[in-house]
Amino acid sequence: MSDAPQSTPAARPASRASMKKELPEHFKAYRHVWVFIEYEHGAIHPVSLELLGEGRKLADKLGAELAGVLIGESRPALLEAAQEVWDHGADLAYIVADPILAHYRNEPFTRAMTDLVNTYQPEIFLLGATVLGRDLAGSVATTLQTGLTADCTALAIDDERSLAATRPTFGGSLMCTIHTLNYRPQMATVRPRVMPMPTPERGRTGRLIERALDMREEDVVTKVLRFLPDRDSAKSQLAFADIVVAGGLGLRSADNLQLVRGLAEVLGGEWGGSRPLVQKGWMSADRQIGQTGKTIRPKIYIAAGISGAIQHRVGVEGADLIIAINTDPHAPIFDFAHIGIIADATDILPALTEAFRRRLSVNRLCG
Ligand SMILES: Cc1cc2nc3c(=O)[nH]c(=O)nc-3n(C[C@H](O)[C@H](O)[C@H](O)COP(=O)(O)OP(=O)(O)OC[C@H]3O[C@@H](n4cnc5c(N)ncnc54)[C@H](O)[C@@H]3O)c2cc1C
Repeated sequence: MSDAPQSTPAARPASRASMKKELPEHFKAYRHVWVFIEYEHGAIHPVSLELLGEGRKLADKLGAELAGVLIGESRPALLEAAQEVWDHGADLAYIVADPILAHYRNEPFTRAMTDLVNTYQPEIFLLGATVLGRDLAGSVATTLQTGLTADCTALAIDDERSLAATRPTFGGSLMCTIHTLNYRPQMATVRPRVMPMPTPERGRTGRLIERALDMREEDVVTKVLRFLPDRDSAKSQLAFADIVVAGGLGLRSADNLQLVRGLAEVLGGEWGGSRPLVQKGWMSADRQIGQTGKTIRPKIYIAAGISGAIQHRVGVEGADLIIAINTDPHAPIFDFAHIGIIADATDILPALTEAFRRRLSVNRLCG
């Protein structure tokens, strides 16, 4: 035995209550829940509407108002978009319209956003974890020197009226809940399809607040010379498909992915797969489903030869009906699938494709 002094036992992790710090006086006036409405090329990104649904719940819990923030070039277009924002549950819409804001550029969008936040002081600010949303959220949070929790999977209000933002950690093996205790606003991003789409209430009315952008084109370093749409952008509509068929390593070869694509085609759905298929070069990354791929929320999800690892599960558990095909009766996917088929996927997929092809063509003839 060593004579070295015994070290004192490690202190137990501080509880949430012991970490609570008094909110600085100047943040106490911060109220209400805001959602950044991603509006590009005449359309609102669906994730912004999903966040209005979630923001409504948070605002109701706080007894606060819900606002949508619209930033862009054309005032009439933003006013039209504001109606969508009210229809999806917002009490008011903030609008910043200026020719400088025609295309997304980080500097003017950050200026518009931080000016609105400093003036109207929201306590919670949510953005979609899209390419644009991630870029804007980071610069707004650092400019305002507040906390930002990225890629949240759940949002709630705790007993002390603080935003509890939950997200996966340690490679998805654990979930952690993060609080921004003494800065405002409390910011969070959420990926598309993580939250359900709220049902719009058409013709709902709300208030409108307009604000001018305090910036000139000469102040912006980045210039947009031309807009070139991504040729592949329409390639995969995985995140928004009603029916998704996916394959995993259990398919054994890239050629067998044809069986997944065949069934998806007959059902009028989309197809995708687990991460190892991307790593093996069997399919492109935009078809990966899961924590580091797409989150999906289809009516029907068919998983063939996928084990159901937690990183895959978090991307699919919002599906209404999960049908799993796996040779191993103890595969983790059977813990959360609604229907399990214990069989070889390379036998079952062609059989299902053929059965649906016949059934659907009979329906079409009769219809
Ligand atoms: C940080 C991090 C992020 C990750 N992100 C993702 C992600 O976004 N998406 C994702 O999918 N994974 C992700 N992963 C990987 C994840 O942990 C798993 O390794 C992966 O999901 C396993 O893929 P799989 O189910 O296709 O393969 P396996 O785990 O190898 O499972 C294959 C399954 O097929 C079954 N099987 C075998 N033969 C047949 C057959 N003939 N017919 C039917 N079934 C058969 C087997 O019983 C087995 O259950 C991530 C991992 C990490 C560390």
